[in-house]
Amino acid sequence: MDELSTRYLIVGAGMTGLAFANFIDDDRFLIVERDDSIGGWCKTVHRSGFVWDYSGHFFHFKHPDIEAYLRERMPDQTIVTVEKRSHIYLDGHRVDFPFQKNIHQLPRELFIDCLYDLFFRDEEPPADPDSFHGMLIEKFGRSISELFLIPYNEKLYACDLSQLDRHAMGRFFPHADLRDILRNMKHPDNRSYNSTFTYPLGGAIEYVNALAREVPDDALRLGDALVNVDPRAHRATLASGEVIHYEHLISSAPFDNLLQLTGLSYDPEVFTANQVLVFNLGFDRKGPDDVHWIYYPGRDLSFYRVGFYDNIMGTDRMSLYVEIGQPAGASTDTEAALRRVLADLRAVGVVDDHQLVDHHSVVLNPAYVHITSDSQAAFQDLSHTLRCANIHSIGRYGGWTYCSIEDNIVEARALAARFNSLP
Ligand SMILES: Cc1cc2nc3c(=O)[nH]c(=O)nc-3n(C[C@H](O)[C@H](O)[C@H](O)COP(=O)(O)OP(=O)(O)OC[C@H]3O[C@@H](n4cnc5c(N)ncnc54)[C@H](O)[C@@H]3O)c2cc1C
Repeated sequence: MDELSTRYLIVGAGMTGLAFANFIDDDRFLIVERDDSIGGWCKTVHRSGFVWDYSGHFFHFKHPDIEAYLRERMPDQTIVTVEKRSHIYLDGHRVDFPFQKNIHQLPRELFIDCLYDLFFRDEEPPADPDSFHGMLIEKFGRSISELFLIPYNEKLYACDLSQLDRHAMGRFFPHADLRDILRNMKHPDNRSYNSTFTYPLGGAIEYVNALAREVPDDALRLGDALVNVDPRAHRATLASGEVIHYEHLISSAPFDNLLQLTGLSYDPEVFTANQVLVFNLGFDRKGPDDVHWIYYPGRDLSFYRVGFYDNIMGTDRMSLYVEIGQPAGASTDTEAALRRVLADLRAVGVVDDHQLVDHHSVVLNPAYVHITSDSQAAFQDLSHTLRCANIHSIGRYGGWTYCSIEDNIVEARALAARFNSLP
């Protein structure tokens, strides 16, 4: 059996693992990736002239230096900058996003319900104020919550929202108070964290490729998974049987998976997540041309969101990504789900007599982890134990969190900087 030694063993060639490799000032590293290609959830598929990600992956940079770093490494790419246009579809009505700031666009009766319940929300406090569900009722009242925030998020997370922590969505939740909501009725300001985003015309994988440029071929092992870690001996075993001795292990694998590989005991009930079944659909001609994505809270519709690549990339055939939230591990009859999606797209007026030219589907599991008070406490505790054994679990799934690609790069860069500053 082969044995190898490296200073940094990096698990996963998604944005997090590749970013760490870019920012570590030491060439003694090896990336192991179980898939046959790099990118993790930021992969892109090119088919029949369509460019599809594993689900729409758009980039909203808060750190100009990170954006510049990536752009320097993708000189041949055309990158479009887009002012987001998104709305909510509710029983045939269209309301601008975020819903809670645009209730005045609802039919009059629903608007009055929303405004009334918002104003008098203190008279009916939630029974579960520490949960995400309770936070919605407490901040927005029953009608806003029940018309959009609850059904939409239940469809996305595929769980009871009372289980999720109040801050489960962190900065990604568009907060608004009564003043913001009222002001928006006369002076619309629907800005959110991703009001403007960028996208390379080659797809999200181009940002991955930008990071991969800095990684020598012999530092990347594709198609070989980490299957066992002996934290005391600093010894990792790959599916191929190869043994790797490391000084530091940097993992972007899902945290529960890493715990299994290291043999650390934990309660599996604590780390739950949803999975997202994504359909990418390419049609023969254009559909709606004034929107980038639409949210669907209707419980009678299979998807929770539909995005329009063609309106983002300026192309002339409708190219959609359709997202369906499911409990992690749920099995799906993909053909039946596709038939249902097409019927639902017709029902909401996105598709009429369009012809489907090509399609692709993928299940992202995990996609949105369920952030609960127990998961946060267990992560703190167990990740500390792992750190004491030189094992660092980072990234969206390694950190068991809700974050963006830029957050992944920031975190990986900060960890690399800590190592770089060691004598
Ligand atoms: C539906 C959806 C839409 C999103 N949209 C956006 C968006 O528009 N903008 C944005 O900024 N972010 C978005 N995100 C978040 C973004 O996808 C993640 O932040 C990012 O992809 C996480 O990168 P990562 O490297 O941490 O993890 P991953 O992409 O999951 O990469 C981890 C890698 O580790 C590998 N791996 C796992 N276990 C092992 C093992 N045992 N051995 C070897 N390799 C292993 C996996 O194969 C994978 O390649 C979205 C996420 C979802 C689910």
